[in-house]
Amino acid sequence: MQKKGPETQTQISPTEPAMRIIMRRLREIMAEPSDGQSRLDKIVRQIAGLMVAEVCSIYLKRLDGSLELFATEGLNPGAVHNTLLKRGEGLVGRCAELAVPINEPDAQNHPAFAYRPETGEEIYHSFLAVPILRGGDVLGVLTVQNRTEKEYSDEDVEVLQTTAMVLAEHLVSGSVAGVNSATEFSRAVAHVVRGQPISEGLALGHAVLHDARVVVTQFKSEDPVAESERLEVAVEELKASIDEMLEQGDLNMSGEHREVFEAYRMFAHDRGWLRRMKEAIRRGMTAEGAVERVQNDTRSRMLRQADAYWHERLKDLDALSDRLLRVLSGGARGQSPVADLPHDTILVARSMGPADLLDYDRAKLRGLVLEESGGQSHVAIVARALGIPAIGNARGVIDRVDQGNPIIVDALSGEVHIRPSTGVITAYGDKARFRARRHRKYRTLRDKPAVTKDGQRVELHINAGLEVDVPHLVESGADGIGLFRTELQFMVSSTLPRLERQVEMYSHVLDRAKTKPVVFRTLDVGGDKALPYLRQPVEENPALGWRAIRLALDRPGLMRTQVRALLRATAGRELRLLLPMVTTVGEVEMSRALIERELTLMRRRGAPGPKAMHIGAMIEVPSLLYELDTLLPRVDFLSVGSNDLLQYLFAADRNNERVSGRYDVLGAAPLRALAAIADAAKRHDRPLSLCGEMAGRPLEAMALIGLGYRSISMAPVSVGPVKSMVLSLDADALQRWLMPAVETGEGNLRARLKRFAEEQNVEI
Ligand code: PEP
Ligand code: MG
Repeated sequence: MQKKGPETQTQISPTEPAMRIIMRRLREIMAEPSDGQSRLDKIVRQIAGLMVAEVCSIYLKRLDGSLELFATEGLNPGAVHNTLLKRGEGLVGRCAELAVPINEPDAQNHPAFAYRPETGEEIYHSFLAVPILRGGDVLGVLTVQNRTEKEYSDEDVEVLQTTAMVLAEHLVSGSVAGVNSATEFSRAVAHVVRGQPISEGLALGHAVLHDARVVVTQFKSEDPVAESERLEVAVEELKASIDEMLEQGDLNMSGEHREVFEAYRMFAHDRGWLRRMKEAIRRGMTAEGAVERVQNDTRSRMLRQADAYWHERLKDLDALSDRLLRVLSGGARGQSPVADLPHDTILVARSMGPADLLDYDRAKLRGLVLEESGGQSHVAIVARALGIPAIGNARGVIDRVDQGNPIIVDALSGEVHIRPSTGVITAYGDKARFRARRHRKYRTLRDKPAVTKDGQRVELHINAGLEVDVPHLVESGADGIGLFRTELQFMVSSTLPRLERQVEMYSHVLDRAKTKPVVFRTLDVGGDKALPYLRQPVEENPALGWRAIRLALDRPGLMRTQVRALLRATAGRELRLLLPMVTTVGEVEMSRALIERELTLMRRRGAPGPKAMHIGAMIEVPSLLYELDTLLPRVDFLSVGSNDLLQYLFAADRNNERVSGRYDVLGAAPLRALAAIADAAKRHDRPLSLCGEMAGRPLEAMALIGLGYRSISMAPVSVGPVKSMVLSLDADALQRWLMPAVETGEGNLRARLKRFAEEQNVEI
C-alpha cells in the first residue's frame, strides 16, 4: 500500500504510480475477452495486489437495496453470491447508505460490524470501504481489509475511490456485468441453478428463451361474428398443425410420447373448449380475449384438484392456449417466434407443451431447461424420446438467463451453469468429450458378455417401463429387462389402459426384446406414484400407505386385468411376474392364487397360456428379511428393490433430499442385509437379482458381486460402466475379503472397497 510520503516539490502525486497501474490493469482487464464474473474476479485480485491488501471485495446493490457479495479476493470464495447484507446492515451497508468512505482500524469491534461466518473475515481488523457511485446513485461498495489494526492513509482512500469511479463506469456500460442497470447485475454473472435431471446427458450451447406467451391487449370487440370466424379458422389451423406433428416420421412409432400427443390432440379437438370460447366472444370479447378468459376459468377449476394428473392436463391446456394465441397473432401454425436458432440451442422455458418442443429444429437443439416441469411432465417424456439432455424444476432459471447467454446443461447432476466462466466451459467441454470417448468404448463392449477375470458370469439387465425404453436393450447389450415398471405406462396415460391396450403393450415389449427375458412387475401404484384416474385417499404417510400389492389385493379388479393381459401377451412364451412391496408371505400366496385363477380361466376357454410362468417377490420391506426361509420356497425368484429397502431400513424418505443421502448403502448394516438375502437365495437355490439404483453404480455393483449377487438390473446408461467394472474384477478375491469384513467389520466399507478397486485396477 502506498504510504503518505513527506511533502515534496515534485509535480507527481505520490499516489500516482499505484493509480496509474490500477487504471492500466483495469483497462487491460476490460479489453480481454471474458465474461462479467471473471472480470470482477480479476479486478479484486489486482486491487488487492496493488494496494497490498489481504482482502478486496465488491458488493453490488440489488433491487431491494440489499448488498450482495459479487467478487472477493481473500474472503471465502463460497460466500460470493451467498453473503447478503440488508439495506444499511454492517459497515458495508452503512457505507452504501451514507455514500461516504468508512475507514476503521478495528472493524471487528465497531458496533455496526455485521459478522458473517461464511466469509471468514473475523481475522481482518482494518477495513476501508468506498461507495461505487454513478450519477448520485450508489451501485455498490468496494472494500479492502487487512489483518493488522491500522487506519488507511488518505492516499489509500483516494486510490480506492478513483478505482470505484472507474468501476462504476464499466458497470453501467455493461463491460463488467454486461448490463446497464445496477439492479440487473445478477443477470450478468455466472450462476448455477440446481434442478432435476429429466433426460440424461450433457449439453453446451446458447440459451434460447421459449416465450410462449402472446400478450393480449385487446379484449373487447364489437363484431362477435368476425371474431368467432377468426377463432374457428385459428382452431382449425391449430388442430391441423398437431395432426401433422403426429404424422411426423420419428414420432410415428408407438410409444408413450405418442400417447402424450394423442391426449394433447384430444384437448385440441375438444368441442367444449371451442364452445366456451365462442360463448365468451358472444359476450363481447375478442378471439384472443376469449382464449385467455377460458384458459383462466379452466385453470382456476383445475387448480382446485390436488393431484398431479390435473396439473399435467393444465399444462397441456396452457400450452394449447398459448399456441392458439400465436396462431391468432399471425404466427405460422403456432410456430415458435424464434427465427434464427443458434446451432447449439439450449431451450429455456418456464414450462412448455410437448408439441412446442417439436416446433424447434431438432438438428439445432442441444438441451432443454424447464423451470416448472418435472420428470413426469409430457414435455420431459418427449425430450427423453428425442434424446435431448434436459433438466426440470430448475427454480429461478428464467430470472437469471438472457437470450443468447452461454449455458451448460449437466443433466447428470442436475446443474444448469448460466454464463459459465471459461474455466467451467473448458472443464465441461473435456467432460463431454470424455463421455463421448467412454461411450465409444462402451459400445465396443456391447456384445461382450459380462464375465469377471476369474470367469464368473454376471448378468446385467436393464430397468424399463415405457415402450420407448425397450430399444435400449439392444443398444446397451444388456442380458434382458430385469425390471419392467408397468405402472409408468399407466401413469402417462390419460385414461386407464384397457385390457386390449395392455395386451398390445406387453406383446410389443416382448416382441422387441426377442429372446431376452423380461420381468414384468405388477402395478406398483399408490404412494408417490399416483394414477390420474384412480381416486386415492389422502394419506399422511403415503410411502407407508395403501400402495402396490396392498392396493392390488384390496382392489383385485385392476390386478386381475393386468395379469390377464400379461398371460395373453406371453402366450407360448415365458412369463416372469414380479410382485412389488411384498411385506408378508401371505401376500405372495394371495397373489399366486389370483394368478392361478386367471390362468385356469384362460385354459378353460382354450386359450394358450404362457409356456412357463415364474412368480417372484421384491424384497423392499425389511420384515421379509426375517421370513426368507418361509418365503423362498413359495417364489420362483427374488429381486431386491434396494431403493425402497434402504428407505425403510434407514427410515429415510428416498424423495426427501435432506435425509435420502444421509445413510450409505455401503455401510455395514445394509451390506449385511443384502448378504443375508444372497445367502438365503443360494440355500434355497432361487435366482436372485437386485434392481435398485445402487446396481448402476460401479463401486456399489462391485460390492454386490462381492456379496454373491450374479444378476443386477440398472438404467440402460449404466450397463457400459458396470460391464467395464465386471470385466476388470477378480470376483473370488473380492468375495474372500469382503464377506468376512461384512460379518465382522463396523461402520462404512466404502473407503475399503475403493481401495480394493484401486489396488486391483478395477474400473469403477
Ligand atoms: C426399488 O424400490 O428399488 C425399485 C426398484 O422399485 P421402485 O424404484 O420402482 O420403487
Ligand atoms: Mg420400490
